[in-house]
Amino acid sequence: AGWFNNVDLAPAIEVFQLTARYREDTDPHKVNLGVGAYRTDEGQPWVLPVVRNVEAMKAADQTLNHEYLPIVGKPDYRKAGVELLLGKASPAVTQNRVDAIQALGGTGALRIGFDFLKNRLGMDVIYISKPTWGNHRGIAKSLGYSKIVEYHYWNEEKMCLNFDGFKADLESAPPKSVIVLHACAHNPTGVDPTHEQWEQLAEIMKRKQLFPLFDCAYQGFATGDLDNDAWPVRRFVELGFEMFAAQSFSKNFGLYNERVGNLIFISSSSSSIPMIRSQMEIIVRTTWSNPPSHGCHIVATVLNNPSLRDEWETNLKTMANRILQMRQLLFDKLKVLGHRWQHVIDQKGMFSYTGLNKQQCDFLVNRKHIYLLGSGRVNMCGLTTKNMDYVAQAIHEALT
Ligand code: PMP
Repeated sequence: AGWFNNVDLAPAIEVFQLTARYREDTDPHKVNLGVGAYRTDEGQPWVLPVVRNVEAMKAADQTLNHEYLPIVGKPDYRKAGVELLLGKASPAVTQNRVDAIQALGGTGALRIGFDFLKNRLGMDVIYISKPTWGNHRGIAKSLGYSKIVEYHYWNEEKMCLNFDGFKADLESAPPKSVIVLHACAHNPTGVDPTHEQWEQLAEIMKRKQLFPLFDCAYQGFATGDLDNDAWPVRRFVELGFEMFAAQSFSKNFGLYNERVGNLIFISSSSSSIPMIRSQMEIIVRTTWSNPPSHGCHIVATVLNNPSLRDEWETNLKTMANRILQMRQLLFDKLKVLGHRWQHVIDQKGMFSYTGLNKQQCDFLVNRKHIYLLGSGRVNMCGLTTKNMDYVAQAIHEALT
């Protein structure tokens, strides 16, 4: 017998499987609401014009080479990432209490962050929202956290935040638990706490000695405004928390396959920053050894040049506004058909939890060629002015 004869087939990753089925579907009406990426009103991927610009400049630049970057990443990129998330005037920035490690996307940032907390600080209990992006559990599991707990988040009946459940779960969490929080545009529900609710969550987390880890994959996507979307993270810094933030540029720069992220760490004292960085260096060395350079070059060039940065913010607003328009349009169409889907307007960012049940989702996939996750999560950018009538009518049929 061969070594591999007893290897079982692993379960498929739902979102990629869904996209494969969509591709094979030959129906002209087919719509992909599953994929977690931006699409134009033509249903196409979008390379941001500012990214095209910088790539052209880069191709012509004879001074660039393919030497290894530092293990912890490109310095001007890391600094720009920190300032984008926290703001230049952040007390953590002005007091040199923050640094970042370049990571392979938000996923890589979560990976090295979870690794550090488990293996350097001995944290063993991690809280993730119910529901959350599937990789939170997957990464925590593969790093051997002994308790992965889901905190209440989604109120299924009222289709909003289950704030009381969320607070109660934090109140009962053991000290030194890691709490994974979505900074904005919660994936998959699209529901974020209000500022007032964040204040209350922060108060509990301080009192209970819980460690915040912000997952920041959608800065700029929730409201179109970078500062607005970073508010919870900045507020926690102001309140004096020591914490981690996993930053991704996959969505807000449309650099999905370039793997551009940062693990940002904030300490109460500047003297611990070099220590943390040196430990992170060892984790990175044994994980991917060196970060890639193409994506971080683009991001650093844009963030460190005022006119390119303006252009980027305009591109970002184009994406955020299209999503807002699709939310409004879906709401309007469904209203005409007799449904009141207030939640699609209230929800933020790329995703919506529609409240459609498994049976209704199956109907849309199998009968209407509209691909969405079995949880009822849809990517709002899969909607266009062209397919909106078809999708709204199909949802109406699924509901009645
Ligand atoms: N966190 C959340 C909540 C996400 O939705 C994503 C992207 N799907 C990520 C992190 C990380 O994405 P990436 O590794 O592609 O940067």
